[in-house]
Amino acid sequence: MINRIKELFQSLMLLELLKGMSLTGRYLFARKITVQYPEERTPMSARFRGLHALRRYPNGEERCIACKLCEAVCPAMAITIESEQRSDGTRRTTRYDIDLTKCIFCGFCEESCPVDSIVETRVFDYHGEKKGDLIYTKPMLLAVGDKYEEQIAADRAADAKYR
Ligand code: SF4
Ligand code: SF4
Repeated sequence: MINRIKELFQSLMLLELLKGMSLTGRYLFARKITVQYPEERTPMSARFRGLHALRRYPNGEERCIACKLCEAVCPAMAITIESEQRSDGTRRTTRYDIDLTKCIFCGFCEESCPVDSIVETRVFDYHGEKKGDLIYTKPMLLAVGDKYEEQIAADRAADAKYR
């Protein structure tokens, strides 16, 4: 009964409304934590696991040696690789697809790669508009690698310090 009377008194005095307004007021003058995306971005870890990329060596040669470790380790079975031997005896992929609708961004593929070829970049704002758009093929992955190589190399170097 006493509780009922207390609740009724609090309702009549609009105490809950005042409490809510004081909370709003506090945040009105506090430091703003929102950013104006995409012009502004929040800080990101060098270990961020976003869109995949295939890297090349500085001479333009692709790093991937078609060992298929990434394909074997992928828990989502998102990677499909086909390969063949070149005339110089080296092995290279003829097909390297990642189905990003299956990928769970665990990072196992990049950790397994012996030549630092497949990596996950900081890119997270990509999309597909029709079926199949999120299956990234070898040329697409190499293009991502070419575009972001500077950032990828810097991130790998920063990450190496903590290993
Ligand atoms: S991040 Fe994980 S799930 Fe995605 S392709 Fe690599 S190993 Fe597979
Ligand atoms: S990306 Fe790396 S792990 Fe995957 S097949 Fe190529 S060399 Fe092997």
